[in-house]
Amino acid sequence: MEFEVDRDKGQNGDPPLSEMAVKALSILQKNNKGFFLFVESGRIDHAHHYNNPYRALEETLVLESTLEAIMSKVDLSDTLIVVTADHSHVMTMGGLATPRGNDILGVDVKPSDVDGLPYSTLLYGNGPGHSAEHRLVPMVNATDAETHNRLHGAAVPRQWATHGGEDVAVYAAGPQGITQALFSGTFDQSYVPHAIAYVACLSEHAERCRRQDAEAINRSNSDATFVASKAGVLGVGASSQGCSVDTNAVTRTAATGGAKSGAAIVLASSVLSDNGSSKQTNNTNPLLNLGYALIAAAAMLVVAVT
Ligand SMILES: [Zn+2]
Repeated sequence: MEFEVDRDKGQNGDPPLSEMAVKALSILQKNNKGFFLFVESGRIDHAHHYNNPYRALEETLVLESTLEAIMSKVDLSDTLIVVTADHSHVMTMGGLATPRGNDILGVDVKPSDVDGLPYSTLLYGNGPGHSAEHRLVPMVNATDAETHNRLHGAAVPRQWATHGGEDVAVYAAGPQGITQALFSGTFDQSYVPHAIAYVACLSEHAERCRRQDAEAINRSNSDATFVASKAGVLGVGASSQGCSVDTNAVTRTAATGGAKSGAAIVLASSVLSDNGSSKQTNNTNPLLNLGYALIAAAAMLVVAVT
């Protein structure tokens, strides 16, 4: 997939990520046994490897528009959406008392107090933006191509910038109660798929969900039988890193068709936290929090169960 800024928007070009995601969703929603959809906006990662924040931020907006498109097609009362990252990048935001409205792709309002030279607000710890001779700063009156292709300065030379090691944010939206309970606080990355599986009644959670549903139906004096079936699995988008999905995951389904259909959506992204502090957070509306996740989102995951 091309970067969004380079993508052929005409008939011969690739469709936007949002269109591919909605198409995948529309196919999977036909499966009354439930589904799982993983969408990765992986080119954010690639742009950061190039020390090219222009494209990284543009790709983050692609993720946001994809998320908006997905959210318009699902019911969050029975759908879980999780937005998170598989890693951060070595980008940071410099500036001391920088005023609101300062161009995020521009320079700090005050030059260095050591050499008196300007520096870009967005800087990298390592990567191709390093120069021993001069400091890379945004040019005045740059052409569009120069703006798109601009590298920002890096402290250590590398042909391909590395990932970062700090914690990343996890945003979740979905059924009230269970979503807030499971996606809050600070946790290890290996917890995330277990939380998803819990909500979606996958794997070992299938039996618990069957039992709870049976108990609920018994309480309402309804007759119901339950069977387990496999969920449809589909992934779209550019991949920045490998990600495995348990295609044999078992979901629950109501044989009578009388139970309300449920769904869980999970969105994952490479998100830069602020200088290594622990910032795993939760909110019922991830769109409101994408400002924090602006830097390096990478992937979206959709799970639905009946
Ligand atoms: Zn990468």
